[in-house]
Amino acid sequence: GQKVVLITGCSSGIGLRIAVTLAKDEKKRYHVIATMRDLKKKDKLLEAAGDAYGKTLMLLPLDVCSDESVKECINNVKDRHIDILINNAGVGLLGPVESISIDEMKRVFDTNFFGVVRMIKEVMPDMKKRRSGHIVVMSSVMGLQGVVFNDVYTASKFAMEGFCESMAVQLMKFNIRLSMIEPGPVHTEFETKMMEDVAKMDFPGVDADTVRYFKDVYLPSSIDIFEAMGQTPEDIAKCTKIVIESERPRFRNLTNSLYTPIVALKYADETGGLSVNTFYNLLFNFGPLMHITMSILKCLTCSCLRRRTISPN
Ligand code: NAD
Repeated sequence: GQKVVLITGCSSGIGLRIAVTLAKDEKKRYHVIATMRDLKKKDKLLEAAGDAYGKTLMLLPLDVCSDESVKECINNVKDRHIDILINNAGVGLLGPVESISIDEMKRVFDTNFFGVVRMIKEVMPDMKKRRSGHIVVMSSVMGLQGVVFNDVYTASKFAMEGFCESMAVQLMKFNIRLSMIEPGPVHTEFETKMMEDVAKMDFPGVDADTVRYFKDVYLPSSIDIFEAMGQTPEDIAKCTKIVIESERPRFRNLTNSLYTPIVALKYADETGGLSVNTFYNLLFNFGPLMHITMSILKCLTCSCLRRRTISPN
């Protein structure tokens, strides 16, 4: 029969594309429940879904930051039966920590970390009873390795990686699979939203040097990285489909072979020196030559890790 897939954060970006890709599966293997905070934002999804809507795709409202909304949404699923839960909803946060309030930081954790925890707590007991299920979490390469000026976002994804790495062992006993997907940069509204937020920032309490490092050094090189190696939401949707269709799904799934060498630095030197120094040099010594550096790095580092990346093609 069809597998019931529930996805969070489907009004845009990666979530929208996963919903459409699964709903349009040629063999109609999925019944997709695409959820979003505000159903008024459904048009883009419905347009992309075409006639799959009402057949293999349905919509439900869901705010991952609200206990009530999460409960109500799952209660509205037939028999509360979800075969595959895809935790995709997430928010970014960029900038010097001096200028970010603790409340803003908590909002990021409430979405990226507690949002996933809420969903898993609600769905897992039924999966345990059935001794089956697959929980997928949209993490990031920033769930594996820190990135300058993404301090709090990175921390929220690390928190989730730690939570899931711990849960995976218990869940395995109940025949429930848990998979992380770790994209590098992806061209979505995520990027645009963050740049808009940055444009509005006036950096209260931040010294001039830090503001300069952020605006004149970090931002241009970050845009460079997006240009040089950004993937599309379609790429990530294809990787996600590979992960959920795999006979023995892996726990970690990097999607971007161009970025994998950067992650490999962390595992190549357990003291952390190699990754911290490389990031320092990339940012402050190579700057505008970032893309050249990246291609050299790509040639130099560990091809075995590169082969381990899930390829959308
Ligand atoms: P996006 O902004 O297009 O999508 C995020 C979605 O989450 C939006 O539809 C948003 O409305 C939704 N959302 C936010 N808060 C929510 C809440 N409380 N309840 C329900 N939905 C909520 O960005 P995206 O790039 O598609 O991001 C999807 C996921 O991919 C995120 O978890 C993000 O961290 C991750 N990711 C993105 C990138 C990237 O470069 N774009 C890279 C790695 C990982």
